[in-house]
Amino acid sequence: MILDARGDIPAMDDRYDCCIVGAGPAGMTLAFKLAESGQRVLLLEAGDWDVTWESQDLYEGENLGLEYYPLSAPRLRALGGSTGHWGGVCLLLDRSDFLPRDDVPLSGWPIRFEDLEPYLEEAASLLQTGRFSADIRKPVDDLGNLEVVEQRFSSDRQFHDVRNEDPVRFGVSFKDRLKKTPNIDLILNANVVGFAVDGDTGRITQAQVRNYEDGQGVAKANRFVLALGGIETSRMLLHLNAGHENRFGNQNDMVGRCFMEHPIIDNDTYFITKRLYSHSPTWELERLLRRSRPELLLSPSHDHMLKNGWLNSAVRLQRLNPLPIREKAIGDAEFIKGLQFEEDYFFTGTSFVMGEQQPNPASRIVLTENRDRFGLGIVGLDLRLTEKDIETLRGSTAEAAKFLIRSGLGRMRVDPSLWNREPLEQLPLDYSSHHMGGARMSLTSETGVVDANCKVHGAPNLYVAGSGVFPTSGHANPTFTIVQLSLRLAEHLADPTA
Ligand SMILES: Cc1cc2nc3c(=O)[nH]c(=O)nc-3n(C[C@H](O)[C@H](O)[C@H](O)COP(=O)(O)OP(=O)(O)OC[C@H]3O[C@@H](n4cnc5c(N)ncnc54)[C@H](O)[C@@H]3O)c2cc1C
Repeated sequence: MILDARGDIPAMDDRYDCCIVGAGPAGMTLAFKLAESGQRVLLLEAGDWDVTWESQDLYEGENLGLEYYPLSAPRLRALGGSTGHWGGVCLLLDRSDFLPRDDVPLSGWPIRFEDLEPYLEEAASLLQTGRFSADIRKPVDDLGNLEVVEQRFSSDRQFHDVRNEDPVRFGVSFKDRLKKTPNIDLILNANVVGFAVDGDTGRITQAQVRNYEDGQGVAKANRFVLALGGIETSRMLLHLNAGHENRFGNQNDMVGRCFMEHPIIDNDTYFITKRLYSHSPTWELERLLRRSRPELLLSPSHDHMLKNGWLNSAVRLQRLNPLPIREKAIGDAEFIKGLQFEEDYFFTGTSFVMGEQQPNPASRIVLTENRDRFGLGIVGLDLRLTEKDIETLRGSTAEAAKFLIRSGLGRMRVDPSLWNREPLEQLPLDYSSHHMGGARMSLTSETGVVDANCKVHGAPNLYVAGSGVFPTSGHANPTFTIVQLSLRLAEHLADPTA
């Protein structure tokens, strides 16, 4: 059933098995899966079917660290969350992303790649990528330094290697399914502004709900899940902890810490020859020509990363256009000098490097002194990058550029600030709108906020869904992993003994 809190908040007299706060991909996936297992689910969504300013304005915040987007820009506060304007690129984390590294403090997940594997097909089905197939990485150069990230989603709807041309928008795509699922009650325009807590046990007893007319209501459930997106989940946890002696995952001041983005540096143009495509079936010329926005990912191999102290990253070559070589050579002679093209055609496009950010407690989400209309502290983002994060972008770019030259397969323009090793402040940094960390998964509250089942440390019935729980981020776009994690969480919550 779909209800609306606009005007009057519907009575929520029943006690639900689970109350999920936030109906983006994390919350919706969880709701569908729990409903399938027979649970009664209440899904509270602050936004409407589409973006409204009264909702979106509540995503405003302050940037306290590195220059970043205004905080209401890279996320949507409406049904379906940020998938209302996402790019639809679906990638899995690498196996090695889950493992600890000696040179990266706080690295390593308490779960393994294999723990998320059982949810691969279902995640691919929800994200409409088609079935996942093919190996994850393949060597591409003779030195073993560089690999092509070859994750293929093959479906009847043609080619979905990495980028889904027609990404699923959860608010639109699952509207009917939400209406038809009998044991999900979705309430739109229902802002969760806090929780009532049983002081003795620490159990959350109610979620406090407000509408835009300042009406108030409460929702009762046995369990509560925060699925508010990578920034807002930390904000809500900080708000909750402020009134309850830090007992909700913040025993060691970890809530909001280790916030991670995927920093980007745009490297502009590249040229590659047809021969490059013989390196991998994903790169088959025929297929590329039939697709409008393919992406080719070149990533340093795990060994090469470790040897150089780099984090995970990939140079993404995208938007290929076949061009007659002579035509393009005019005016660009310097750039392609030395290339011995034998082919009639080569390809040009734009490239960028996207890297992992190491878990850094100083990079964090905080509450500022200012309050929103519901009395919640306005969020502050103190985004910081380390020298390791930057070295990763430099190294990965150089490796890809050198590979193209060495192999005679192409040329890649590299932003001069990377070659010249300019300091962080001089770099033309951009970001991916991927908000990870802040509620990191860890075996103890000393290093994290939730346990391996996404249950908040110290809280008997409070959980987190979404990329806030990522202890590390790899270079992969996060939503595929978010959906896998929600499916896993649903399985856990469906177990009555959990
Ligand atoms: C421009 C852009 C492009 C992107 N491209 C990609 C991509 O190509 N691939 C990829 O993997 N990822 C991409 N992302 C990231 C992706 O959109 C997110 O990873 C994903 O949406 C996160 O899902 P979520 O459910 O955790 O959070 P969200 O999508 O943020 O959903 C959170 C939900 O909680 C609701 N909410 C917030 N506060 C409250 C409250 N107080 N009470 C009740 N409800 C509340 C919101 O309205 C929203 O519906 C992109 C993001 C942006 C902005």
